Amino acid sequence: MVHKMDKASIQQEYEQTFGVAPERVFFSPGRINLIGEHTDYNGGHVFPSAISLGTYGAVSAREDTTVRLYSANLADAGMLTFDVNDLEFSKDFGWGNYPKGMLYELKKTGLSFDHGFDLYVHGNLPDGSGLSSSASLELLVGVIAKKLFDLDVSQMDLVYAGQQVENDYIGLNSGIMDQFAIGMGKKDQAMFLDTNTMEYEYYPVDLGNNVVLIMNSNKSHDLASSKYNERRSQCEEALARIQTKVDVKSLGDLSKEEFDEAAYLINDDTLIRRARHAVFENQRTIAAKQALDDHDLTRFGHLISASHISLEYDYEVSVPELDVLASTAWSQPGVLGARIIGGGFGGCAIAIVDRDQVETVKQVIGDKYLQQFGHAADFYVAEIADGTHEVTD
Ligand code: ADP
Ligand code: MG
Repeated sequence: MVHKMDKASIQQEYEQTFGVAPERVFFSPGRINLIGEHTDYNGGHVFPSAISLGTYGAVSAREDTTVRLYSANLADAGMLTFDVNDLEFSKDFGWGNYPKGMLYELKKTGLSFDHGFDLYVHGNLPDGSGLSSSASLELLVGVIAKKLFDLDVSQMDLVYAGQQVENDYIGLNSGIMDQFAIGMGKKDQAMFLDTNTMEYEYYPVDLGNNVVLIMNSNKSHDLASSKYNERRSQCEEALARIQTKVDVKSLGDLSKEEFDEAAYLINDDTLIRRARHAVFENQRTIAAKQALDDHDLTRFGHLISASHISLEYDYEVSVPELDVLASTAWSQPGVLGARIIGGGFGGCAIAIVDRDQVETVKQVIGDKYLQQFGHAADFYVAEIADGTHEVTD
């Protein structure tokens, strides 16, 4: 179940750890994505929102150059310590690489840090759940650094630095969606982002009487990163083969028809399916936004379910747990659509569910899931929230 947290509780926890009250408290959300999965590194569209589950950070500046980190979520790791002038990655530094990596990437852009800080972290995003706790932590540290060191950086600069942490520092070839959604989120808004141009618009999440139900498989996506990198290189290879005859910048530039005509150039069944997901998912995302514009929630829901099918068969990033969550949801009255969110291989799915039927839907899916896998799934109704910020009230 989700741990309830607020400013007072995190201040108290900081004090128990460091012996004095913290100077400042920050909050960084997790994210959901309505539709547009694995499109963000293929020049396609995404449609994410920040959510009210996330990561709190309480912090005080230090006079020396030491940084001390403690996470209530990973208490076994104990207190981690490094110097702001020594920001190299080290494997055995565990979760501390995310905060350290954020400082490293900011320093690479010419910024400097003349003192350290004590940071206490406590999140209520379920672990390894595909709601992007890693990007939540990166942006948390980014915004803290901006405020503590009075850095001349925009929220978008921090978004890009967060992606660099994943790509270059940690080694996960992810796209820009997670950091963008978390850094730029606004309460009750989704963001329709074209990752080719980085143009975006805020879009009120108006699903009528429906809510976004997050369904956590409680199966950690531990092995996802190597598969993630493999999917990305498969898409790059497919694109390169198309580019031998077609003048196109990214898979996101192609219509379904253009892809069908060019697919023979790829000449490999697996690569064709990977690229087809990227192209069709992008088109589904554009169509889903249009469906919301037309107030056609039924069509919106069908597109979301079609996204799951494509992720299951063409992109092959699903697992039986996520298939059972989604397909049981599809069979329930009051469910408009359901699909995997995030990288896949575990973590969460979402369903768009009639508010009045949420309890029944949770019950039916929960029972079926427990019966089939012998462990429970968890359910949370997503609250669409603001991006990473200082908690001032
Ligand atoms: P996710 O889909 O949640 O982003 P990742 O595997 O990308 O999953 O990132 C999870 C990792 O991020 C954790 O293993 C840990 O290293 C780090 N992390 C995220 N949240 C926290 C936290 N609250 N405290 C410490 N580390 C965290
Ligand atoms: Mg992550």
